Amino acid sequence: MRMAKRYNYRGEGPSMLQRTESFARALLLTPIMTRKSTPESSENDVLLLCRRRCCICFGLHGDLGIKQGQIAHLDHDHSNGNLDNLAFLCLPHHDQYDSRTSQSKGLKESEVRHFRGELHGRIAKDIVTSRPDVAVIFKESVLFTAERKARITTQLNSFYLYLTEIGYDLPKDAPPLGVGPGLSFGGVSPGTVYDASMFIPGNDIDDLKNVTHVYSIFLFSHLLHRVDLNPEAKGFAMRAVWIFSDYYRASFVSKHSVDPKSSSAKLETALWDIRRMHGKEFTDRAMFYTFKRWRSPSPTEVDFDTFFATRFLIGESVIDNMGQHDDPIRSFLAARGLLPN
Ligand SMILES: [Zn+2]
Repeated sequence: MRMAKRYNYRGEGPSMLQRTESFARALLLTPIMTRKSTPESSENDVLLLCRRRCCICFGLHGDLGIKQGQIAHLDHDHSNGNLDNLAFLCLPHHDQYDSRTSQSKGLKESEVRHFRGELHGRIAKDIVTSRPDVAVIFKESVLFTAERKARITTQLNSFYLYLTEIGYDLPKDAPPLGVGPGLSFGGVSPGTVYDASMFIPGNDIDDLKNVTHVYSIFLFSHLLHRVDLNPEAKGFAMRAVWIFSDYYRASFVSKHSVDPKSSSAKLETALWDIRRMHGKEFTDRAMFYTFKRWRSPSPTEVDFDTFFATRFLIGESVIDNMGQHDDPIRSFLAARGLLPN
């Protein structure tokens, strides 16, 4: 059975900072000077040292995901631009660190400094010792220069690591990646990864979001079609691929944007609002158990949104202690018209 589908790229957010491994190695060998009056270069050093990982997320939760964030002044003195006084923090942690009202319960400067040291150590170790987990097969194209291949491989591996840390058991191979007129993924199902192909647009080749996008479509098609082989359920399974892919790509960079005309807009917005209310870690894992407890729809389940919202409640119940999240999420989904009242 052949299924090929073309996906249109939907732009969202600024591109993430990625560097080649050789660049990072060189950086590690460069002694770090503290500077007084060169905030911009200090800022660059901060970003390169942490690779846009938040040291509080790492220190408290072991979370090495790439974050949208800002550079915080650890002593709360904005005129002190010394490298030693700066740390890249995700937006919620920056707010929390800077908020003076909760300072008694808030994080101490010494803690954040300690976490920052641990994070830099971990990143340096990973860069030196790790080999990519996923080998990327590049189709022949003059556009795939060595530098681009390194950036794309790093991006694909970051997304792979993000999902495997949540618990997903992912294939070690990715389908061959080519350059096309747009973003597309096509494949033969069932088949090996070599029977599929991913394409990123040649005129937008340096936007790494395209790589994550097409790779996540592949991953969730692969995962869901393995558990949902019921032919009548195919339409639902394909829509679920979109929901999982859109959710995790957004959560990976902590930035969400929804096409209001999309048939999934209501459901996707609701999932993002749940993430905002109950947190990234909870919602990332709730989505994981939504996948783990997946089953095909019964003949009476004809509305996809209701079907998915019900699956989500079943998934979140796996990690929900004494149902503390269940009632608010259930009422929230009903209020959004995603579950019957
Ligand atoms: Zn954080």
